Amino acid sequence: MVDFSLNDKQKAIQEKYRDFAQRMIIPNARKFDELAEFPWPVVKAAYEEGLMNGPVPEKFGGNGYSILDAAVASEELGAGCIGIGIGIDANTLAITPLLLAGNDEQHNRFFGRLIEEKGVAAYCLTEPNAGSDVQGIQATALPKGDKYILNGHKRFITNAEAASFFTVFAMTDPSKGSRSLSAFIVPAESPGIEIKPRMQKMGQKASVQNEIIFTDVEIPKENLLGKEGHGFIFAMKTFDRTRTGVAALSLGAARSAFETSMNWAKNRIQFGKPISANQAIGFMLAEMAVKIENARNLTWKAAWAYDTGSKEANMLSAMCKLYASDIAMEVTTDAVQVMAGEGYSYDYLVEKAMRDVKLCQIYEGTNQVQRLVISKNILK
Ligand SMILES: Cc1cc2nc3c(=O)[nH]c(=O)nc-3n(C[C@H](O)[C@H](O)[C@H](O)COP(=O)(O)OP(=O)(O)OC[C@H]3O[C@@H](n4cnc5c(N)ncnc54)[C@H](O)[C@@H]3O)c2cc1C
Repeated sequence: MVDFSLNDKQKAIQEKYRDFAQRMIIPNARKFDELAEFPWPVVKAAYEEGLMNGPVPEKFGGNGYSILDAAVASEELGAGCIGIGIGIDANTLAITPLLLAGNDEQHNRFFGRLIEEKGVAAYCLTEPNAGSDVQGIQATALPKGDKYILNGHKRFITNAEAASFFTVFAMTDPSKGSRSLSAFIVPAESPGIEIKPRMQKMGQKASVQNEIIFTDVEIPKENLLGKEGHGFIFAMKTFDRTRTGVAALSLGAARSAFETSMNWAKNRIQFGKPISANQAIGFMLAEMAVKIENARNLTWKAAWAYDTGSKEANMLSAMCKLYASDIAMEVTTDAVQVMAGEGYSYDYLVEKAMRDVKLCQIYEGTNQVQRLVISKNILK
C-alpha cells in the first residue's frame, strides 16, 4: 500500500518547525543575509526549543529523527531561510560519520560536548584540489605513537569558525592514496588549527564558510572513527543520508517563494484585474505547484527508502537532491518573474530564496555528480 500521510510524530515535527520558522527565522532572515554572520541567537533558540541535532539518538540527548522526520523538519527550515536553516542543520552533516562509525564512548564524548555547549560542528572533506573528486584529498594524518599527526588544507567548510569540533577526512598512508582515507574528530581547540577569514558569497549568507589549515595537529588515536581506510565509504554513506536534507531545504525555499508570489499575484491589479487572472501567470503558478509536489514526493520516497533499508536509497537520495534543487532554482526564478520589480526588491524574500537555492545545486555533490551517481545505479 502507498501512503503519503505523515504519522503523528511527523505532524508534530512539521508544526513545531513551521512555528519556529515563523517566529524566529523569517523575522531574522533579512538581517543575517545582510550581516553575513553565523546566526547564533537563532541557533541558541533552536537549542532551547529542542530543534537541534535531530538525528542524534535520544539516549545521547538528540531527537532520534528518522531520515523522513528530518526531511519534514528541513522543509520548514528552508521555507524560513536556507542560510539560517543550514546553521541549524549542518550539524547533521558533521555528525553523521560519528553516528555511522563512532563507538559508544565517542558518541557520549562528542554528542555530549555538542549538546552541553549548545554548539555546532563542521564537516571537513573538500580541499583546493579535491572538490567533486573526493579521492584527490591530500590531507594526511600519519600515525605516531598513540596519536595521528594531521596536516592539510580544507576549503569551503560550513560552520568552521563557529565549530566545537571538526570531522576531518585525511589519508593515514599516502602510499595507498584514497584507500587510506580515514575519518577523525578533531576538537577545535587543538593547537595547530588556523581558520581563515569568512568566505564572501552570493547567497545562504547566514551560513558561514572558512578555509582551515591544519599544521601538525595531534589527534588522539581514540578519535579515529571506525577503522583506518574506511573514510571514503563513511563520506559517501553520509551523503546518502544527508542529500534528502538538501532536497528538503530546497523544497521549502521553493514552496515559500511560490506562496509569496501566488498571494501577491492574486492582489496585484494591472489592466483592471488581478495579474493571476492572466493565463500566462496562472500557468506559471500551476507549473510551480506541480514541480513542488513532485519534489516533495521524490524526497519523501528517498527518505522512506533509506529508513526502510531499500537498495534504492543511494540512487533516490541523489535523484531527490538533483530534482528538488533544480526545480527550486526554476520556481524561485519564476517567483521573482511573477512579482517583477517587487520580486527583485528587498521588500520580499523571494530574491533571497533565488540566491540561496543556487548553492543547493552545488554542495554535497554538484548536480552533475548526482547524475553520475544515478547513471551508475541505473546502468549497473
Ligand atoms: C557555500 C559552500 C559550502 C560548502 N560546505 C562544505 C562543507 O561544509 N564541507 C565540505 O567538505 N565541503 C563543503 N563545500 C564544498 C562543496 O561540496 C564543493 O564545492 C562541491 O562538492 C564541488 O566541488 P568544487 O567546488 O571544487 O567544484 P569542482 O569539483 O571543481 O567542479 C567544477 C565543475 O565541474 C563539474 N564536474 C566535476 N567533475 C565532473 C565529472 N566527473 N563529470 C561531470 N562534471 C564534473 C562540477 O559539477 C562543476 O560544475 C561547500 C561549498 C560551498 C560553495
